[in-house]
Amino acid sequence: MAKVTVDISRCKGCGLCVSVCPKKILGIDSKTHTEKGYYPAVCIGPENCIGCAQCYAMCPDYAITVEK
Ligand code: SF4
Ligand code: SF4
Repeated sequence: MAKVTVDISRCKGCGLCVSVCPKKILGIDSKTHTEKGYYPAVCIGPENCIGCAQCYAMCPDYAITVEK
């Protein structure tokens, strides 16, 4: 099964990964602040990740890792 990880120390909460995920399993966690004061991306349905890596390709801050 594929696994997506967000390094929230790099994430600035831009939402690009959220918009591109075909499985709609990424969201913005409005209950968490990063050290830089952003709301980070979070995976809300890890069991449905297909490992397409579109989120990884879209992230401008290299905050996402996808393992297959
Ligand atoms: S690898 Fe694909 S399915 Fe998995 S979180 Fe990223 S965009 Fe979504
Ligand atoms: S695209 Fe990258 S920086 Fe933007 S919300 Fe997603 S993980 Fe964070």
